[in-house]
Amino acid sequence: MSETIETQVLVVGGGPGGYVAAIRCGQLGLKTTIVEADRLGGTCLIRGCIPSKALIHVAGKYESMLAHVGAGKLGIKLDHAPQFDLGQAVDWKETVVDKLNGGVGALLKRAKVRAVHGKAVFADAKNCTVETADGDVQISAQHVILATGSVVAGIPSIPFGEHVWSSTEALLQRELPKKLVVIGAGYIGMELGMAYARMGSEVVFVEALDRILTLFDRPLLKPVEQWLKQHRIPVHLNTRAQRLIEDGNGRALEVAAADGTLSTLPCDKVLVAVGRRPATQGWGLERMAVDMNGPFVKVDERCHTSMRNVWAIGDLVGEPMLAHKASAQGEMVAEIIAGQRRSFNPVAIAAVCFTEPELVGCGLSPDEAKAQGIDVIVGQFPFAANGRSLAMESGTDGGFVRVTARADNHVVVGIHAVGAHVSELSGEFALALEMGARLEDLSGTIHVHPTMTETLPEAALAALGHAIHA
Ligand code: NAD
Repeated sequence: MSETIETQVLVVGGGPGGYVAAIRCGQLGLKTTIVEADRLGGTCLIRGCIPSKALIHVAGKYESMLAHVGAGKLGIKLDHAPQFDLGQAVDWKETVVDKLNGGVGALLKRAKVRAVHGKAVFADAKNCTVETADGDVQISAQHVILATGSVVAGIPSIPFGEHVWSSTEALLQRELPKKLVVIGAGYIGMELGMAYARMGSEVVFVEALDRILTLFDRPLLKPVEQWLKQHRIPVHLNTRAQRLIEDGNGRALEVAAADGTLSTLPCDKVLVAVGRRPATQGWGLERMAVDMNGPFVKVDERCHTSMRNVWAIGDLVGEPMLAHKASAQGEMVAEIIAGQRRSFNPVAIAAVCFTEPELVGCGLSPDEAKAQGIDVIVGQFPFAANGRSLAMESGTDGGFVRVTARADNHVVVGIHAVGAHVSELSGEFALALEMGARLEDLSGTIHVHPTMTETLPEAALAALGHAIHA
């Protein structure tokens, strides 16, 4: 049986962009319908940010317990090595995902948003059909918010399959591979590759460029490179993955060095983490007549497309492909539809990489500022001089906070950090930049002792030439 829904706002995609947009629309009294083909929560919640952080947590816990075996540590001794069961860890991870997925459904319900389960296929810009378990649903909307997100990019010569995983499969395994080759030393490759290494796999990275994690500058990467070295994890830079070879000798990945020399890396499984691309195929985008910007949907500063009352947010509209950017855009678009004057113009969008140790980038690095012709002063403070870090067994990983400010008026243009737990400092960094803080604002704000946050005013003081504890 076919049902017809007339709605003020139709949101396509239930990820952190789409569901936030829908909730805000509902709160603002707009009649709203959201369509999601998979589970509510999108890549972030179901097969990305959240499950990967859960697995990274498990890996960290297991690795730290191993350190207590034998002679012990911190006065805590384990007689036997802990047993590790990846299947059970994955089951626990699913409970976290389920809880959040249920929460999204409840929030949408509370905001009086109708959720339709199925894939929307557009006939034109304002009309789509959704094939649901209960039959086709025709939806016609005054406003459409496109939030279809992104899909994994692959390597044509190394197709996904039983032995070649994308990040999705890497989060669903029940048995550890003995040897895992990770193609791509970007965000996903590094986060998941390091987690597998900590859980006990032998991990090797293959990266086409001459460095890992290109989003972060070299001084920040030093502690991460040091961790890889200490854990004897090879990283083959300037190396391209070619194909998977299976013969009498087993399975191996053939790779090519920059000069074309071929070699093989034995492996049980391969994780391909070479980027993501916007999800623009298979749902009728071509019939909506919106302009494109390369592979992305083109939008203006209000996330409006070239088609009247069609909006697009999140990974679909460009970099950075981050959940928190999508959510911010979603909230904004809902408010614009409800009549508010808004535009998307953040000073900075912080990015965090949950590696060993963690990395945070917010705003401009010193080099980026200089490239823009900004004369900067820079201050840095090590976690090794922070009491709370040392009391948590961290601080010895080479981590630090770095503040970059304009030399003329001391307005902060960037804050970066590397070290254990620094992801939790990212909100303060973003707040400082968004509020237009000067170095004196950072140093003049009394930070709680003993916390890791004390490193921020210290780094500001260092930029001003008089850090207290360094
Ligand atoms: P990425 O762009 O960060 O890294 C991909 C890497 O693969 C690059 O360094 C590239 O040079 C390399 N590469 C490409 N082809 C290759 C080949 N044939 N052989 C060897 N190396 C090759 O992409 P990603 O890690 O897949 O992440 C995708 C997106 O997901 C990112 O845009 C990121 O924003 C998002 N993400 C964010 C987080 C986070 O916020 N913590 C975590 C994971 C992913």
